[in-house]
Amino acid sequence: MAGNITFTMIKPKAMANGHMGNILSKIIEGGFKIKAMKLTRLTKEQAMEFYAVHKERPFYNGLTDFMSSGPIIAAVLEKENAVQAYRDYIGATNPAEAAEGTIRALYGTDIEANAVHGSDSDENAVIESSFFFAKREWV
Ligand code: GDP
Repeated sequence: MAGNITFTMIKPKAMANGHMGNILSKIIEGGFKIKAMKLTRLTKEQAMEFYAVHKERPFYNGLTDFMSSGPIIAAVLEKENAVQAYRDYIGATNPAEAAEGTIRALYGTDIEANAVHGSDSDENAVIESSFFFAKREWV
């Protein structure tokens, strides 16, 4: 059965471009309840750990440089079937291919700086939420 939790980050470039408020409004408008949230910043090492699944990919070094380049928002979101619902809501990885009106189409600038992260499975939603928050903050 699909879970009701997903994890998101607003990535550094969307933060630097001043889109934090609009993206949070859009998340709430989409019916996602914010269960936990913080404005924080990843070290290079933390970004490498978070994206370890991609460590063999050619973009891993650039991605982890980028994700540690400035402040981010990390948040746990709740909605029925949250992982798939949020992935549909944010759009395709590449903003150029993301459906009109999705968060990545609106606020992403390129395939790396695609405005937001969204978990890709219920299992990863729990792992990623636990990376940033104590269980008592979101369960
Ligand atoms: P997601 O689940 O849609 O976020 O996509 P992935 O899990 O495949 O990739 C994780 C993140 O790596 C994406 O959100 C992008 O920020 C970045 N990324 C993915 N593919 C590429 C690529 O081909 N080039 C670069 N520079 N970054 C990428």
